[in-house]
Amino acid sequence: MTTVLSGKLPAKILRTQLQEKISYLKTQHVIPTFVTIVIGDNAASRGYIRSEQRQARQIGLKHKVLQLPPQISEKQAQQTILQISQLPDVDAILLAAPLPPHLCRQKIMQVIPPLKDIEGLTAENIGRLWTGQPTNIPATALGIMKLLDFYQISVSGQHVVIIGRSEIVGKPLAALLLQQNATITITHSQTRNLAAITKQADILIVAIGQANFINKKYLKKGVIIIDVGANYDSQGQMQGDVDALSVQQIAAMLSPVPGGVGPLTVASLFEQVVKAAEKRVKDGR
Ligand code: NAP
Repeated sequence: MTTVLSGKLPAKILRTQLQEKISYLKTQHVIPTFVTIVIGDNAASRGYIRSEQRQARQIGLKHKVLQLPPQISEKQAQQTILQISQLPDVDAILLAAPLPPHLCRQKIMQVIPPLKDIEGLTAENIGRLWTGQPTNIPATALGIMKLLDFYQISVSGQHVVIIGRSEIVGKPLAALLLQQNATITITHSQTRNLAAITKQADILIVAIGQANFINKKYLKKGVIIIDVGANYDSQGQMQGDVDALSVQQIAAMLSPVPGGVGPLTVASLFEQVVKAAEKRVKDGR
């Protein structure tokens, strides 16, 4: 039997802890606040932001959305974001993806101060993560580490194969796993003979963005699989990157989609907003 690594319970526990911290902060007249900046209009990010707002409200976070016009220039976007980041009661800023094609997301977000860069994607925050002194960490990578930790899965000495090298999942995850003494292989679309590599994995983390891509042909018996994929079919149903039925007899553990990494990603994002607000109180800002 494959053990299901649900993220719902650890996410609920974390949200409860955050609620308590937020209640305390409110007694100090501080409401943890984050601003999502949206440039242009995108149906997928609209739905995601609505859900994030609802979840933020449930635990007492203040979440504002700032909509900027699609034709805005890189410079104007940077100036606006810089102004917002200077507001003392804004703890965190998130720049919603995707952006209109004339804008470079990485370039625009460099104006966000590292403490308020809640996505952990500014050059300074990436450097801090790789040197073992993280400020903010991409929430999905952090959520995956929390999921492993909740189920007491030690990565030390294990061969962890990550499929996907994005800035938000594969790369930061590699840094976090290395710090916990895992042996890492990162694979991507140009990797030759992927199955030969994934079959060596004690833990396989899949973040490709293609529904049901990984099946039993890619696995060694007893592997632990974290499925990061969040793919929507024509009926709007979410599907993972792993074919859960196919891997049933082979994987020892598998995180489900939905209900695996997703809930912990959002809770981890909120955790970092709360930490930023706590720092604001501590620093007397
Ligand atoms: P991304 O930026 O599109 O990166 C996908 C990665 O997969 C790339 O590195 C790509 O390689 C690699 N890849 C694509 N096809 C491949 C193949 N055939 N073989 C091996 N590698 C292949 O995606 P992402 O933002 O990391 O997201 C990945 C998935 O996770 C998506 O489904 C996304 O929706 C989901 N996600 C879920 C959460 C959550 O909270 N549950 C959060 C974030 C993302 P190249 O670099 O060579 O192109």
